[in-house]
Amino acid sequence: MTLRPLAALALPLLAICAYPAAADVLIDNVRGISPDGKGGLERFTGLLVNDDGRIAAVYREKEKRPKKVAYKVNGKGRVVVPGMIDAHAHVMDTGFAKMTLDLSATRSLDEALARITAYVAAHPDRAWIEGGGWNQVNWGLDRMPTAAELDRATGGKPAFLTRVDGHAAWVNSAALAAGKVTETTPDPAGGRIERLPGSKKPAGVLVDAAQALVAAKMPKPRPSDRDTAFGEAQLEFLKQGVTAVADMGTTIHDWQAYRRAADAGNLRIRVIAYAHGVDDMTLIGGPGPTPWLYDDRLKMQGVKLYLDGALGSRGAWLKTSYADAPDVTGLPALSETQLGNHMSRAAIDNFQVAVHAIGDKANEMVLDTIEQLSATYKGDRRWRVEHAQVVDPTDIPRFGEHGTIASMQPQHQASDRLMAEARLGPDRLTGAYAWKSLGASGATLAFGSDTPVEPAQPFTGMSVAISRQGVDGQPVGGWQPQERLTIGEAMAAYTTGAAYAMFAEDRLGRLARGKRADFLFIDRDPTTATPESLRQTKVLETWINGQQAWSATRGAAKPGSSSPR
Ligand SMILES: [Zn+2]
Repeated sequence: MTLRPLAALALPLLAICAYPAAADVLIDNVRGISPDGKGGLERFTGLLVNDDGRIAAVYREKEKRPKKVAYKVNGKGRVVVPGMIDAHAHVMDTGFAKMTLDLSATRSLDEALARITAYVAAHPDRAWIEGGGWNQVNWGLDRMPTAAELDRATGGKPAFLTRVDGHAAWVNSAALAAGKVTETTPDPAGGRIERLPGSKKPAGVLVDAAQALVAAKMPKPRPSDRDTAFGEAQLEFLKQGVTAVADMGTTIHDWQAYRRAADAGNLRIRVIAYAHGVDDMTLIGGPGPTPWLYDDRLKMQGVKLYLDGALGSRGAWLKTSYADAPDVTGLPALSETQLGNHMSRAAIDNFQVAVHAIGDKANEMVLDTIEQLSATYKGDRRWRVEHAQVVDPTDIPRFGEHGTIASMQPQHQASDRLMAEARLGPDRLTGAYAWKSLGASGATLAFGSDTPVEPAQPFTGMSVAISRQGVDGQPVGGWQPQERLTIGEAMAAYTTGAAYAMFAEDRLGRLARGKRADFLFIDRDPTTATPESLRQTKVLETWINGQQAWSATRGAAKPGSSSPR
């Protein structure tokens, strides 16, 4: 980046080291690309940013630039796109995943056990061994791991390791004892204790709500741990070019960490919070969603509800049984009445509702409930279905009704492909990860990563969205290739669609006059890149509110002053 003081040669050095003080900035000589808000893309070569961090003008090639600006940034022909919006992220978990044992790269149970053994030895001060990211499918196991296996690596210390999807935990004997989980413990509502074959003895994996039996006994993170985690998460988002996130399941403790960061001038990205259930919703928001705070960097917008689990742990709720487990259909976390009550409770105070639904039965129930509630709660509600992963083709057209939003994560399709085929069998795949069909139904597509389940990498997600192929380029021709999107559609889902899904389209998602100046310098043109090249896109600089927040050469800029408004 070149900061060229035009008039004042005596520009203080500090302003170069940190980011420019509030003043008009001309970003010029760029190859700019932005969704036009009408389904297409538009090009520009210059941006004028106001001293309040909003875009004052967008210039094409030969259009006249203002003579007097405080700073001029010469883009040197580099590509500029809007800051990416992650429509479904778990912000705190993303930070904590960086602070605990990460098993996501392990490719066998033995490799995982070796990693755990080394971690235990390296952290003698930890009372509990915490971590996650494991996936038995990646280990080539056709069963879940056991407590006895984990005991070999952990000795007597209790261990709690969440599965990559967050919907199951692998625990050892000491953790089961701490949670008093025995052969006489019944499965809790909305959860399942995996049992050893031919007995009632807990095997060592707790699915969905059963995780709480042990989790409740674990030491709670301290406020300072949360602050560290949030800092780690923000850095990760900035690096990946994500300037705004929908935080799916914000607790009051998370919210307080965001407020602490903001009050200290350390809130860099934009966090749009969806509370972890209605109790946290009323604790955080009180009588309704909060206004935009801290220069539009923080807002509590709605509530996140869970209706079912995930496919990998067979917790997703299906209309008919799993292809690879004939007596299992998955389970709902809420009854239809409970779901209706929670959604009503939120809607009555104008909180936006986001419901996690993965299985086709769960999706049907959300759509039924949206239909019922729409008669009472009129107006612009933007009901969100999170994941919408397996939808019965007969239910797909219903997504186009009542302004429903399909909040989906392309990277899941690539990671889950083989597992989904095993769980669903051949007949249910046409409605799986069916983003093109859902978009064609009239639903707004909003894309995200579900980080830390998948890395917060929007360009990887875009690559999957246009190719239906994984990082290995498989399968050739794409999986269910009829569901591929164009690059314009995919980019819109990470920008304008995601902004709309969080009621932020008046300020975020496009590079246009009046919008917030959130943009990226990247190393290639996504509109002409192959899927393979698109996936390798490098973010060079991340700008928020017209200020450089991160650069590949210098890292994060020093925190600025973000005053509450
Ligand atoms: Zn999630």
